[in-house]
Amino acid sequence: MKNNSIQQKVVIFQNLKKQVEKCQRCPLYKTTKKIVFGEGPISAKMMVIGEAAGRMESLQGRPFVGPAGKFLDKLLKLGGIDRKNVFITSVLKCRPTMDNRNRKPKKEEIEACLPYLKRQIEIINPKYFILLGEVAFSVFFPKEKLRDFRGKWIEKDGKFYFPTYHPAAGLRFPKIREVLEKDFNLILKKNKFLVK
Ligand code: URA
Repeated sequence: MKNNSIQQKVVIFQNLKKQVEKCQRCPLYKTTKKIVFGEGPISAKMMVIGEAAGRMESLQGRPFVGPAGKFLDKLLKLGGIDRKNVFITSVLKCRPTMDNRNRKPKKEEIEACLPYLKRQIEIINPKYFILLGEVAFSVFFPKEKLRDFRGKWIEKDGKFYFPTYHPAAGLRFPKIREVLEKDFNLILKKNKFLVK
């Protein structure tokens, strides 16, 4: 992707989005309202990765616009990060549901959707990643446990990953909320990444 101009990247990215809109690699396309491809600058230095679209996201086709998204906005501010400057997406581009409620993605849904995230990463080529929750963490570090790496920057193949809990867990559990706030404060302290 390095030799492509911004305009070329935008076209390639839009074509990828069209592909995701037509995707039938797993059954979630049958029930999701709109796919949630992600949003942010094509040349973002940082990517924020969640788990899967929720109800509000699949209605609007935008990432992190429901209650967890409102909390994520606060956390990003704590981290000194301007939402407009980062690319925000999730591992699953569709909403996994059971009885019309959100549910955890299945392994085969993650496997089916992962090539899209990988391609997004190739095109945008960010250097920094914030991984929200187990699902996002396990995609990059399948053999590790989130609890051993949460709240620290990890360097792997020239990229930097900061795993933490998912904001939705912070909404449910005050202790996790505290940890998330601490983690994003730590990002602020080390925020030398010009993503403001
Ligand atoms: N949770 C996620 O992981 N992603 C979203 O876009 C919204 C909620």
